[in-house]
Amino acid sequence: MKEAFVKTDLRVPEQETCGVRAAQAEEQKEFSENGRPVLSVLVTQAHQLEPVLACTAVSEVMLEADAVSPEQWESTASRIHAAGKTAVLGLPRMFRENEKGYGEAHRAFLSASCFDAFLARDPEGLFALREAQPEAEIIADASLYAWNSGAAAFWRRYADRLTLPHENDARSHAEAGLYGCDLVVYGRTPLMVSAGCLKKTLGKCNHKTEWLTMKDRKGYRMPVLTFCTFCYNVVYNAVPTSLFTETARVRSLRPAAVRLQFSDENVQAVSQVLAAAEDFLADLAPHAGGEDAETRTPGAKLPQGQYTRGRFVQGVE
Ligand SMILES: [Zn+2]
Repeated sequence: MKEAFVKTDLRVPEQETCGVRAAQAEEQKEFSENGRPVLSVLVTQAHQLEPVLACTAVSEVMLEADAVSPEQWESTASRIHAAGKTAVLGLPRMFRENEKGYGEAHRAFLSASCFDAFLARDPEGLFALREAQPEAEIIADASLYAWNSGAAAFWRRYADRLTLPHENDARSHAEAGLYGCDLVVYGRTPLMVSAGCLKKTLGKCNHKTEWLTMKDRKGYRMPVLTFCTFCYNVVYNAVPTSLFTETARVRSLRPAAVRLQFSDENVQAVSQVLAAAEDFLADLAPHAGGEDAETRTPGAKLPQGQYTRGRFVQGVE
């Protein structure tokens, strides 16, 4: 784990576009006040794309780094566009542009031109992309920790949209004035991003992106994804988060986008989550109602199993 703390050569670009981004953030807030949020979906594995493209409620598709190879970016973006959706490229969660062996793979992200926007995961990736593509639309992920208004103002200098951090509850987001941001409402929360590769530690890395499982002290199975184009690992929470029962609290934050983050789900599970998300969106509408509203149970269409609300409701009476 020591490698994760290796000092990196962080370049912070000039901030001349600050005013423009602030205006865009204001527009984003306006949008979310006038209607319900857009539904955004992060796809981590290629097989998850098909049901997501078929779902008309989805407006934006985010492709996780390594979900498809760079050679397939253009055709995949075209498929997303043909389905009438916006295409976003997710940057690696650990951006090591200057590190031997990974530089070329990372630079491919910086020059990608067939996507409408990028999802930045760490400061290195955010700053490098802002410098390489000054006009690109960049969404800062939850890992770029916008935990108060000062931190949010800092990230807004470089990013067009912010994602609310997983570590804070709804009340803290409201107190910090973090309205009109993106909010992850479904998915396994990444608990740890490690610069060390489990497969390398266990013997030999085959440089394939694969799922492994770790058990925690209580015997919960935590999925681990080895992103081995870049040889970093992501440990996901054993229990997926669902905020589908938290309609009022989510609505009060007026998110511009609500996001589903798929990780190890199969096609059937993806479809079930999408169906639950459609109910959730209907409930979020400013004047929710309609024929089914009375009989609808939030989250009922999710795959059977245990879910957590994470820290979203912590400290709220
Ligand atoms: Zn590896």
